[in-house]
This record gives sequence, structure tokens and C-alpha cells, in this order.
Amino acid sequence: MLKQAFAPLVDLIYPPRCPLCGEAIAAQKGLCSTCWSTLEIPGTAAEDGITAATLYNDTARQLVLRFKHGRKIALAEMMARQIAARLPDLDGDWLVVPVPLHRTRLWQRGYNQSALIARELAGLRGKVLLVDALVRTRRTPSLGGLGRAERAKVLAGAIAANPARCERLKGAQVLLVDDVLTSGATTNACKAALRAAGAGQVHVACFSRVLEDKEA
Ligand SMILES: [Zn+2]
Repeated sequence: MLKQAFAPLVDLIYPPRCPLCGEAIAAQKGLCSTCWSTLEIPGTAAEDGITAATLYNDTARQLVLRFKHGRKIALAEMMARQIAARLPDLDGDWLVVPVPLHRTRLWQRGYNQSALIARELAGLRGKVLLVDALVRTRRTPSLGGLGRAERAKVLAGAIAANPARCERLKGAQVLLVDDVLTSGATTNACKAALRAAGAGQVHVACFSRVLEDKEA
């Protein structure tokens, strides 16, 4: 209520701008219509247990970079709304779990971008956020440029269920949240860790998905 009452004032002091091109927009959240129109929406729904809000093109890349490294954390809500609009019905209890960031990365960046999206998504869908269900047991190098087998090798044992959360994970349905899904190596490592902890069904949700043939 209070937030809404102050919104017009905030708009006067900080006129809303598109976070990508700087164009004036009507509301504080979202993109201008030109930038919206350049986002690519995947054609098919989540048959493979993965929901992606967009396909990874230049606009999506710019958004993710600004979100991840440009401290545009307000983009989390817009990204979560895009994902929520495409998610299948999640009946019953689901735990919303972000792909974890290693603690040294967390200190450097100040936030886990996937956790911010997960928090918004949990709120939108009325599900429980379990932000520390998974942990990175060691730092891994960037996966860019590595083949499928190499990625899996680098990630082997690097992601585990948080021992303090294993009780919650036993038999749970999990919505695993990532900002960008590339080869799936990271989400597969997360799924393996969740299953090892006794989790049941795992559905993956991401803001943007890199198609196999576009992979660098
Ligand atoms: Zn724009």
C-alpha cells in the first residue's frame, strides 16, 4: 500500500527509463516496447522439464549482463514475471531453489542473481523459497568454451545439497532457478545433488536459454 502511494513521487524524481536503451517508459518496471519486441520467446512449452522465458539473443544477453554485473537488481522482478507467465501449473508443495554461487563470487558480486529471480518467482507463485538448499563446495572455472564432457568433469562434486537442508529436500518437488541455461551442465549437477538428497521431481526455470547450436 505504502509502496504504491509513493510510486508517483518516485516516478517524478526518477522518471522511468528502459534499462536497456534509456528510452522513457510509462512504469518503473520492464522494458520499452522496442526492446520488448527484440526478445525471442521460445515456441514450445516445457516438455523437457525446463521452462525458459526467452531465447538467448543479444537483447537477453544485454539484460542478463546488466542484471549480473551492472547491479540492475530490479530486473529480477521483470525476469521472474516472464518466467512465471510460461511455467506449467505446479500443484502442491514446491520448494524454489536457486543455482548456487560460490561464496567468493558472492562476496565479489554482492548477490546471487539466480537467488533474486528465485525469490521473486516464489512470491509470484506462492511457493516456499529455500535459498540455501544447494551449495558450491569449490570454485569452478568458467564453463565457456568447454565441451559437454569437460563441463561435467569440471562440475563433478562441485555442487552439493546443504546438509542443514537435507531434511527439507527429502521427497520434495523442486523448482530449480537459473538466470541463463547454457549446456545444462550446471543445472544437471544441481539436479544430481538434489536427487542425492532425496528430492523428487525437479523442474528447471530460467530467464534465458541458449540453444545448442548457438552455443559458443
Ligand atoms: Zn528499450
